[in-house]
Amino acid sequence: MVFICPKCNKEYDYITICKCGSPLVVKEDITKVSFRGEGVWRYEDLLPVKKKISLNEGDTPIIHFNDLDLYIKDETRNPTGSFRDRAATLILSHCDRKRLACGSNGNLGASIAAYSAFAGKESYLFVPKYVERGKLLQMMMYNARIIRVGETVDDLLDPVQESCRLNNFYDASEYNPLSLEGQKTMAFEIFEKGEFDNMIIPVGNGGTIFSIYRGFSQLLKLEFIDKIPRLIGVQSENCAPFTDKNAVAKKTEALAIYVKKPLFRDLAIEAVKKSEGVFFKISEEEIREAQKIMAKKGIFCELASATTIAAGLKYKLKGKTLCIVTGSGLKSFNIKKDYFGVTSTKIEILRLLKEKESYGYEIWKNLNKKMKIQAVYQHLNGLQEKNMISSKKIGRKIYYTITDKGKRFLEVYKEMI
Ligand SMILES: [Zn+2]
Repeated sequence: MVFICPKCNKEYDYITICKCGSPLVVKEDITKVSFRGEGVWRYEDLLPVKKKISLNEGDTPIIHFNDLDLYIKDETRNPTGSFRDRAATLILSHCDRKRLACGSNGNLGASIAAYSAFAGKESYLFVPKYVERGKLLQMMMYNARIIRVGETVDDLLDPVQESCRLNNFYDASEYNPLSLEGQKTMAFEIFEKGEFDNMIIPVGNGGTIFSIYRGFSQLLKLEFIDKIPRLIGVQSENCAPFTDKNAVAKKTEALAIYVKKPLFRDLAIEAVKKSEGVFFKISEEEIREAQKIMAKKGIFCELASATTIAAGLKYKLKGKTLCIVTGSGLKSFNIKKDYFGVTSTKIEILRLLKEKESYGYEIWKNLNKKMKIQAVYQHLNGLQEKNMISSKKIGRKIYYTITDKGKRFLEVYKEMI
């Protein structure tokens, strides 16, 4: 297999990053094409390797949410709960070594670990400080060796490449061109299921949006389509290197897209430009809100994926809009304490009321906090609005009692935090 740099056309026969700094792609050979079978491997004619290792990934549904005026491609249905399984099936089918290394802040690492386990190979995952606990748990359960390095995925490149050189590991990181090949099958599936005007995609390193572009551009070359849909990349306002190249990135809760110096920056920008698309930034609050909106519709997506819903709802694009929901929320249970709109003081009040019913002054005394009694009444009103407590007047005092809903909340809260 020949790898080629899409920027300077230099060719390589091994997995690396081009001397010019660009990730490589597989040199294209897309002449004879027929689609048959299911999932990712339905498109084997357009893929550079033959199917060897597969957990039946791909073939994820597109769901229409009429009232939101959005379509969702639900990639959480993949074997490990994210679209990265598309990359992993290609990478493991190509890998000819016993041991693989991968630098990842979550989903790709989990996929590589799972598929390595399935293939009977060893995976060494380089993982930064900021990683979601569910993803780390997956990696451990799939029996990966975990090496913690640096703060973000930006810090992993050198240690992984160094380790691959020294140990003869196969490099399964995102810049492995086979990962683009696997992920481009999202474009093929979308093409087979309908026509869309806009496609909203979360961007971290930019590899995902570039791979979808690659899929559509191959369909264009094959004359299956006459136009590539508008590709819209979404980032968090806190970390938006695609729109603000020189801005100082802050931590975003959407850890899967917490990338300060995207490897695929130029390629992703070109893809968006050629498709007449655009990059959007979404605030952390809007991302969290969008996650809740989707959950209330039955789709629990991770925060990075919720950016696409937030952008779709905020910008109301003309035409049919498809949001790529890349990964499951079950992987990312780093839930903030006030996530459900119940602050720590409210939790304390609920705990007191679970012991016994009580009145304002007594609650205030028992909280033993430097706060005005009026503030306690505000919290009590808030809890009453959420139906977590009820009140009744006895004599001159108003007594508060925890409701079943309040008790249930405390139970769930205990498990989550
Ligand atoms: Zn190059």
